[in-house]
Amino acid sequence: MLDIPGFTPVTPTADIRVARHGNRAKCLQRLIRMDLPVPQTVAIPFATVREIAEGQMPDLATLIGLFEGEPMLLSVRSSSEAADWGGPNAVLNIGMNDAAHGWLSKTLGHAAADKLYLRFIRSFAIEVMRLDEEPFDAAKTPSEACIIYEEEIDDPFPQSIADQLAAVLRSMARAWDGTSARLLRQAKGAPGDAGLGLVVQRMAQGMGPGQSGSGVVQFVNPATGEPKVTGRYMGQAMGRRDLRNSDKAIYLTRDERGPSLEDLLPEVYGELLKVGARCRKRLREEMQVEFTIDQGRLAVLDAVRCPREARASVAIAAALARDGIIPRSEALLRVSPDTLSRLLHRQVDPGAERVVLARGIAASPGAAAGRIVFDSAAAQAAQSRDEACILVRRETSPDDVRGMHAADAVLTERGGTTSHAAVIARGLGLPCVTGAIGLHVSHKKRRVILADGRVLREGDEITIDGSTGEVMEGRVATTEPALNGAFGDLMAWSDDVRDIGIRVNADTVADATLSRTFGVDGIGLCRTEHMFFESGRLTVMREMIFAETGADRAAALDRLLPMQRDDFTALFSLMSGLPVCIRLLDPPLHEFLPNETDGIRSLAEALDRPLSEVKARIESMQEYNPMLGMRGVRLGIALPEIYEMQARAIFEATVAALAKGVDVRPEIMIPLVTARREVELVKRRLDGVAAKVRDETGVDFDYDLGVMVETPRAALRAGEIAEQAAFLSFGTNDLTQMTYGLSRDDAGRFMSAYVNEGVYPEDPFGTLDVEGVGELLLLGASRGRKANPKVILGLCGEHGGNPESIAFCRFAGFDYVSCSPFRVPVAKLAAAQATI
Ligand code: PEP
Ligand code: MG
Repeated sequence: MLDIPGFTPVTPTADIRVARHGNRAKCLQRLIRMDLPVPQTVAIPFATVREIAEGQMPDLATLIGLFEGEPMLLSVRSSSEAADWGGPNAVLNIGMNDAAHGWLSKTLGHAAADKLYLRFIRSFAIEVMRLDEEPFDAAKTPSEACIIYEEEIDDPFPQSIADQLAAVLRSMARAWDGTSARLLRQAKGAPGDAGLGLVVQRMAQGMGPGQSGSGVVQFVNPATGEPKVTGRYMGQAMGRRDLRNSDKAIYLTRDERGPSLEDLLPEVYGELLKVGARCRKRLREEMQVEFTIDQGRLAVLDAVRCPREARASVAIAAALARDGIIPRSEALLRVSPDTLSRLLHRQVDPGAERVVLARGIAASPGAAAGRIVFDSAAAQAAQSRDEACILVRRETSPDDVRGMHAADAVLTERGGTTSHAAVIARGLGLPCVTGAIGLHVSHKKRRVILADGRVLREGDEITIDGSTGEVMEGRVATTEPALNGAFGDLMAWSDDVRDIGIRVNADTVADATLSRTFGVDGIGLCRTEHMFFESGRLTVMREMIFAETGADRAAALDRLLPMQRDDFTALFSLMSGLPVCIRLLDPPLHEFLPNETDGIRSLAEALDRPLSEVKARIESMQEYNPMLGMRGVRLGIALPEIYEMQARAIFEATVAALAKGVDVRPEIMIPLVTARREVELVKRRLDGVAAKVRDETGVDFDYDLGVMVETPRAALRAGEIAEQAAFLSFGTNDLTQMTYGLSRDDAGRFMSAYVNEGVYPEDPFGTLDVEGVGELLLLGASRGRKANPKVILGLCGEHGGNPESIAFCRFAGFDYVSCSPFRVPVAKLAAAQATI
């Protein structure tokens, strides 16, 4: 094996490593090991590229000396550790100079040689030496281009391959260190100091006599993952850019719309299919293969993991496992929880009325409606108000990435399927339409002029369909995503391996229905207060809150009772056989009262009381610190009739459901507990109600009483609390709020400063703070379990849908986590991944 300082020839036995040379170099070695016709390749490791960026060039004469052939033309491609971290664009035909031009004129003819040389001078000048593009537009011949080059840079166009190569390597190494490249790759999860490797390869000419050309092929549909040969081929062409920019490219497979490689060169086409099948088996992946045909001979230049949308990545992983190429556990690991969540995106309802304002390129699938914003700051502001927004830009740049994170969809005037907006949006799973025809975006005037002259302004609502490229007026109805067989397979395989339950936070029949289709293990949190906000109920609720006497309150509660009973009966029937955990009323009562004059006036009318009295009453109920005030179990202690009504509704619904043959044993959960005595008091009352309902109906039933551990004191006193409880459910939203003393409703205003300054590694309301809140969880869990070994442990804060937090709960020995309906599949996959 050759041992050359600074670079490594890629041979079957060379020591090429992803962590040292990058993904592309490793992949090329694998292709070489498979005996595929790969042109001679040398890898430059991360360390050398770093030195090059710092101005220290390795011995290029030795590097060039490794290559054979005449004329000596090389390409350089980037090779980062993970394929999707990107890297500077490839530079082709390094070594093109007057001599090579002369040589190629003889073999390829003048026209082809001129074209190659002219193109190289241009790309060297613009991409490597960073000269302006414009002066080169006038150059029609290589010599004209050489003159322009010299005028611009005061030096002749370099004729030495070593000089050219040095400039290319330096420019690529420095581009990787630039701020925008760094931000882009960080958005894709790369560490700030990620390395870049480079691969230098001998050019296989796609231009020359006979059948020569270049192409890109993949063997699956990148949108769906279904088997399908797709890609393009073009005669007398070189590199991906040729293929992208030309309408002379032809199909690969026989196609009635035009000529194809299959017809033109059936043997080469057959060979390509074999390459695809071998790559799939040996590399255990669907690959996209870049190839040239050099006078009828196939050369495989490169193979990268086939780019794919969320749907396709799930389909591909599942198919590889079904075909026995990878184990199921690996298929599960190959799909990131985020990818899965993208699959769950909405589509425009086919039956919905739509007025199409513009059409563009369907750049990233899914549909979203929202208000127009024109920059990142406005997108972030909308997000903090919980308002859906569509980021509209002429085109996007790295500066817009933060806005894209905050937006629900992206629309750009310019660009195509590979433009910045499209690539980033696909990465983020955002619906995106690029290159919208006839649209004119003015960031300055904050408006969009449509092709027919109509004007849209900031704040106007539009709907984007990133699957069709349509931009529609207003809010168009969307449908839930259609989940295919591969998704089902993945869910089933996750269920086979995961050892922590995944429940759902569901308050409505719709939420519960959706989560059942995802195969959820039960309801972990039904927030009953949401049921009181429905129309028709709010007034009764307000009457109950305003009641001055016990009798008035009882009358209002009597009216609420059947409504709650119906809610619970419906949930029990839907979730038959699965646990349903209902939380008793939690928020401060004044949250149910109106705070605007109009609302207060209608309340006064409904109550038949003077406006001033109602106003004064509302004011008297205001609290200085409502989140720490009269809420949760404190309501249950101070106004026990409310919890009693809720308990009666739950028990009567249980009886009604049992009568229908539904398998139900309700769980009732007490919020915001701080002391054992609170639990005892509520338990005694609830047991009393249960006994009465059993008596009245003659039906025997059971229920489990649990406690929400969402105050630090409850976690600390979990031992004595657990003696009274069948389960403890950690409410990490409030627990985080109280552990940090950080308002969950106000922290958004300064959280980004905190995260940017490294005070907190992440927003603790999104990802569980394992060091602080996590310690309380561990403590509460162990004290609870010690006092009551049978106690069931769950978590129902927002963290229940976060993969890292799920892994932590599993580590802490929790029985389940509970999350919002759309996070259920993500949580199941994350739970499975945590066990593998
Ligand atoms: C919690 O505090 O974690 C919780 C689940 O309850 P809520 O978000 O309703 O306060
Ligand atoms: Mg809470």
